[in-house]
Amino acid sequence: AHLDRIAAVDGDVHAFLHINTEGALATAREVDEARAAGEDLPPLAGVPIAIKDILVTQGMPTTAGSRILEGWEPPYDATVTRKVREARMPILGKTNMDEFAMGSSTEHSGFGPTRNPWDLDRIPGGSGGGSAASIAAWEAPLAIGSDTGGSIRQPASVTGTVGVKPTYGGVSRYGAIALASSLDQLGPCARTVEDAAMLHEVMGGHDPMDATSLNEPVPGCVDAARQGRESDLSGVRVGVIKELSGDGYQAGVEQRFEEGLDKLRALGAEVVEVSCPSFEYALAAYYLILPSEASSNLAKFDSVRFGMRVEKGNIERTMGATRAEGFGDEVKRRIILGTYALSAGYYDAYYGSAQKVRTLIQRDFAAAFEKADVLVSPTTPTTPFKLGERIDDPLAMYLNDVATIPANLAGIPGMSLPSGTAPEDGLPAGFQILAPAHEDARLYRIGAALE
Ligand code: GLN
Repeated sequence: AHLDRIAAVDGDVHAFLHINTEGALATAREVDEARAAGEDLPPLAGVPIAIKDILVTQGMPTTAGSRILEGWEPPYDATVTRKVREARMPILGKTNMDEFAMGSSTEHSGFGPTRNPWDLDRIPGGSGGGSAASIAAWEAPLAIGSDTGGSIRQPASVTGTVGVKPTYGGVSRYGAIALASSLDQLGPCARTVEDAAMLHEVMGGHDPMDATSLNEPVPGCVDAARQGRESDLSGVRVGVIKELSGDGYQAGVEQRFEEGLDKLRALGAEVVEVSCPSFEYALAAYYLILPSEASSNLAKFDSVRFGMRVEKGNIERTMGATRAEGFGDEVKRRIILGTYALSAGYYDAYYGSAQKVRTLIQRDFAAAFEKADVLVSPTTPTTPFKLGERIDDPLAMYLNDVATIPANLAGIPGMSLPSGTAPEDGLPAGFQILAPAHEDARLYRIGAALE
């Protein structure tokens, strides 16, 4: 049914870069046979899934949204890909994304944008717009995303779906093409909080192949979601982040957010205001740290090891020509920013200062979590904007992530779930919940209560 749906609507939505028809059907058939034979199967066996094209998948192309990797087939599976296969979930295909996960609209994909199923003239968010759109368009019930500054939560917000960024290190990054290694985290995209919880438990857990992987048990997300549905929140303190409202936030987005707060109060939660004064500098710090790490991570695309090669006689010219042709404008912009920020003479002023801001943001969170068990804000300041509207204005594009970036800088978990549609345009808005590191289960409890 999902493959039929993809065939019917993906010409318009363009959520997928690759559709794995034969492979998905083969897994589905194996699961059917196993079930008929009375075999014990994992909980999500037979439930189809879409995978963001940032994860390497053996036997399927992987491009990370870049022309430079067009046609490349990875020789191995990412840890999360392997876990999905072990969970016996049919893989529907690979979803579209901004090139190397740089963007908030999928318009920076090397293969054309994804469109928002709510309104095909609008963006589905980014970088994981393909994963979120595949769920919103009913092409897939579950998908995998990656979140470096909001790429799971922001697309969830603008497509009316659920997206979770786990605690940094909670899900293995082995085989996820790196954007900024100290910020990147893989996580679930789903239609409901409990669906996301089930996928989170499939994805999570310690992995010796990832040096930053947490050596602790997977959080009890599903139990927490079920507990949340019982909906008594007495004793829970919810902190509203003062800095993430007001100027730049659309009236209808704030209205739906306030209604969410009312619901939490009605369920017994105590709602308090908290202040995170350093958030003012989060976006600036992020756009120094991310390009710095990205410029280093992307050095491996050198025309020798992977994908595209534009032959130009000698190796230096070949590398230059390949990168000139293979990378899009946004990727080049960030490589230039990153190499500049890291260069001798500027390192302390830019990269060093940004790292100090990062520490201040972590301290803001620590102080706020003294006053509240979870923190909340609108996920994005506005409902989805029109395709093309911000493509020539990188700063306006970056501003979409003001509310999501702080969590990545601090390594804490965050969820976006639908808060309803804004009355002025009828388009989806998102409610963000943040919890202290290792406390991912809290997101599911509060999220399920709010749903
Ligand atoms: N939109 C942000 C950026 O462009 C976030 C990207 C992400 O989370 N991968 O960097």
